[in-house]
Amino acid sequence: MMQFKLNNRFSSELKADTNETNTTRQVLNAAFSYVNPRIPSNPKLIHYSKEVADLLNITPDEANSKDFLELFSGKSVLPNSRPYAMNYAGHQFGNWAGQLGDGRAIVLAEIKNNNQTFMLQLKGAGATPYSRRADGLAVLRSSIREHLCSEAMHHLGVPTTRSLSLISTGDEVLRDVMYDGNADYEKGAVICRVAPTFIRFGNFELFSAQNDIENLKALADFTIKYFYSEIQSEGKEKYVHFFKLIAERTRKMIIHWQRVGFVHGVMNTDNMSILGLTIDFGPYGWLEDYDPNWTPNTTDREYRRYRFGNQPDVAQWNLFQLANALYPLIEESSELEKILNDFKTFYDVDYVDMMKSKLGLEKFHKNDEKLISELENVLQLSETDMTIFFRELSTVKKEDSAGCGISIINNAFYNPKEITKSILKSWEKWFTKYIERINLEDHSDDVRKEKMDKVNPKYVLRNYMAQLAIDAANNEDYSLVEELHQVLKKPYDEQLEFEKWFTKRPDWAREKIGCSMLSCSS
Ligand code: AMP
Ligand code: MG
Repeated sequence: MMQFKLNNRFSSELKADTNETNTTRQVLNAAFSYVNPRIPSNPKLIHYSKEVADLLNITPDEANSKDFLELFSGKSVLPNSRPYAMNYAGHQFGNWAGQLGDGRAIVLAEIKNNNQTFMLQLKGAGATPYSRRADGLAVLRSSIREHLCSEAMHHLGVPTTRSLSLISTGDEVLRDVMYDGNADYEKGAVICRVAPTFIRFGNFELFSAQNDIENLKALADFTIKYFYSEIQSEGKEKYVHFFKLIAERTRKMIIHWQRVGFVHGVMNTDNMSILGLTIDFGPYGWLEDYDPNWTPNTTDREYRRYRFGNQPDVAQWNLFQLANALYPLIEESSELEKILNDFKTFYDVDYVDMMKSKLGLEKFHKNDEKLISELENVLQLSETDMTIFFRELSTVKKEDSAGCGISIINNAFYNPKEITKSILKSWEKWFTKYIERINLEDHSDDVRKEKMDKVNPKYVLRNYMAQLAIDAANNEDYSLVEELHQVLKKPYDEQLEFEKWFTKRPDWAREKIGCSMLSCSS
């Protein structure tokens, strides 16, 4: 029997909904509503993350036990702990959406291990008071995507929520993947997500919009006490400082996304963690050819609000909404405005530092920003794989010629036949400058390569890879889920046995649903 030390802070310190019926409704004066998970008909453990199990002190034997299966599929609940769904609001695609809440997420408990507290949250375990018109369920497809990507992000060094387990429910779930009237049944699944907390920008927006200042303040004080304990000031200064630190964590997260080529796809304020963690993996994607305008989310195809290159601006916009939500606790806007403006200024500085690390440059040179923006331009002249480009770049040597540089990254081009003389000329110009620039560095080629290979991953969860794992899993073959989980644990290592995953997106995946096109249907 698994034993957990409960530490239910959120549900014991913040306001509970007094209505305990599981009906869809507006919930006032409450941070959450008690609700039990739905009982799945035939749960089966597909995969679990040993690293997350370790965090929670769950042994491999326990992870393969009936108790584990029942608890993390929603079939049983922990003794002495009442599951609940959190209440939050949000701005979706730029518009105020009002109350949203955990429509298909249910917190089982907060548990303590090794002096750390973790919130355990099932996703896809049935309807809650916040389900609105939806079913509260999740399909195997999107659950595999979230399970694999959460862990991949963690191992890439990107702040993220984690995923303990992936369990199929044995139930069928109806989904219209492309929203075109072709609904079909898919396998249902439940994952158990793990994070210090799942509080979002939207939890604050909710109380603020409801003009419920008492709960707003309680939530801010709670979040500061447990997650921003470095804040010592009191009164208004306390909340200004809080906002400043949230902006910092958010900025760092976005820098990481841009470094690894991750596109979240649905950066609504309800999908922004108050801890600056990557949260809610939906129609996310990884840049293959370097294209700042790319978004995997077909729902966002028209305006491309959440395209790769727009993520920093959207983060700032979302922070602006959070500032508005916190305003009643501060009642003075100049400091908040300064933090918002600084966001972009600091972001630009961090971005240059991050890109320099990808290029293996440590010293200061006045032309570095230009070298970076010129690279961004040449990368877009013809489809060029971002991951392969940066990974191969580390093998360029100080003695190399520009032509040699091009041949090293040649493999990153999707359409070698499209590389015209003028494109080659642009690359030659860039490589000439780049090689001159690395010659100004003190490190040897070997040391530079070693450092670059720690920031330029060799393996990322390319969209087609996730789709291959999904296709196999739909036929009850889970070996690819395990294989991808394994390879993505060491994304910066060579791992020759997994070399086949260091390759460009295959042609069949270019326009395939699930690979280049994803909808919010999950
Ligand atoms: P998302 O775009 O996945 O972040 O979801 C936005 C809102 O819709 C959140 O309040 C979710 O809880 C809710 N939601 C999404 N899918 C479902 C579903 N299948 N059942 C109930 N609520 C859902
Ligand atoms: Mg969400």
